[in-house]
Amino acid sequence: MERIQNFINGQYYEPNSNEWLDNYCPANGEIYGQIPNSSRIDVENAYIAAQSAFPTWSQTTLEERSRILIKISELLEANLNHLAKVESKDNGKPLHLASQIDIPRAASNFRFFGNAITQFASESHDSVGHQAINFTLRQPIGVVGCISPWNLPLYLFTWKIAPALAAGNCVVAKPSEITPMTAYKLGDICNEAQLPPGVLNIVHGLGSTTGQAIIEHPDIKAISFTGGTKTGAHIAKTTAPLFKKLSLELGGKNPNTIFADCDYKNMLETTVQSSFTNQGQICLCGSRIFVESSIYDTFKVDFVEKVKTLKVGHPLKDDTDIGALVSESHLKKVMEYISIAKQENGRILCGGHSVKVKGFEKGYYLEPTVIEVLTNTCTINQEEVFGPVVTIMPFNSEDHVLQMMNEVKYGLSATVWTNDLQRAIRMSKQIQAGIVWINTWMMRDLRTPFGGTKASGIGREGGFEVLRFFTEPKNVCIKYG
Ligand code: NDP
Repeated sequence: MERIQNFINGQYYEPNSNEWLDNYCPANGEIYGQIPNSSRIDVENAYIAAQSAFPTWSQTTLEERSRILIKISELLEANLNHLAKVESKDNGKPLHLASQIDIPRAASNFRFFGNAITQFASESHDSVGHQAINFTLRQPIGVVGCISPWNLPLYLFTWKIAPALAAGNCVVAKPSEITPMTAYKLGDICNEAQLPPGVLNIVHGLGSTTGQAIIEHPDIKAISFTGGTKTGAHIAKTTAPLFKKLSLELGGKNPNTIFADCDYKNMLETTVQSSFTNQGQICLCGSRIFVESSIYDTFKVDFVEKVKTLKVGHPLKDDTDIGALVSESHLKKVMEYISIAKQENGRILCGGHSVKVKGFEKGYYLEPTVIEVLTNTCTINQEEVFGPVVTIMPFNSEDHVLQMMNEVKYGLSATVWTNDLQRAIRMSKQIQAGIVWINTWMMRDLRTPFGGTKASGIGREGGFEVLRFFTEPKNVCIKYG
């Protein structure tokens, strides 16, 4: 049984707290490791290391920072197979998903921001007639905190860390205590890439202890957080009196809207993916499917038929489409939502039950579930389930569906299937979400802004937006007359 350690100042340490948490394998329900539940003292040690490294790292040339980040990317690629197995075991996701999406994307995050920082420009203004020139300095903030969730562990951890480091900050980071393993491995990779000690520090533990110590730390000047809306609200409330810069990437209840004029085959295939990839545990999954009435019955039959072919199985098996959910408590929560949907007159079209996978009976498996609902105001259409569960219902007109798409507290992403260009543009302007996909899903270009509106968060990650977040703008005005 492996006990992992905190990564502070380039070395691995047992937690000062000497408190340990069990790490469960979702595929078989067994405890296979222990992780530190780090205390305030551990976070303080990480902060001191980061603060000491900051004067040098912030003055390191962009070329050198870029070189080190790209080296980390190359080492992630070189260790892809091993890391993908670690991720799959820790999270329950199919191995092919970890190999094709999670780890390659973590490598891309470092490569992208290693390159982007060399292109990151600031503005200048000639104050004509006043004989003055203004320019903007974009300076690193100092020590920043990065806190990430369990659904795409290394992918989302590095989506924050890479731009924070590229911009010249030093980092105290906490991955989810449910999926700490790939973040733990990142320490060795950073050392091999010769990232100077203290520039990145990784502390493990519960949100309520380790996470809380990070967000309350008076000298950690910015927090970049991805996770649930409730936790995001708590972080906003805690950090406001401390005047921290804040980026919050939170939950979603994303609509997937299908018009009769769409490319049906492509739509059907992608809708299965957008509903169930990663067991539906992606903040961008389309969990509310709205279908134009004229094709509703046909879609219902075709969709359910396809969903029934998805294979629930052990994450390491090649033919597994749906692996295990991340934890027993999460499985219970998702099942509870299915039962609420039934009580509120939702009709289960397929799935709805937990699954015993032969040989791994204690794993956290659930059938992909499609529920036909009568209204958009039912609980299952209003609250984030974050599992392999989607609802479907018909709509009559563009206005009708727009009203339902926006009638939810979240505003992360939305997909629209239509071949009517005017409608696509009209709807894009009216949908309340940070990301709109037309005739596709989860196509991500790392240069574009990423994030949500309403209860899905504040701020944007990605591209130069996140480099702006991780730098402090300073106006310098030079009078030359
Ligand atoms: P949580 O909000 O429970 O946790 C996210 C992270 O915050 C974890 O590391 C957690 O630690 C930590 N945390 C919990 N409490 C505190 C606290 N008081 N102070 C500081 N940190 C704390 O989210 P989940 O891990 O359950 O992730 C699922 C959620 O993330 C979903 O709502 C999903 O939509 C959202 N998400 C949003 C994305 C986006 O980009 N908008 C992308 C991916 C997911 P611990 O592990 O102990 O709980």
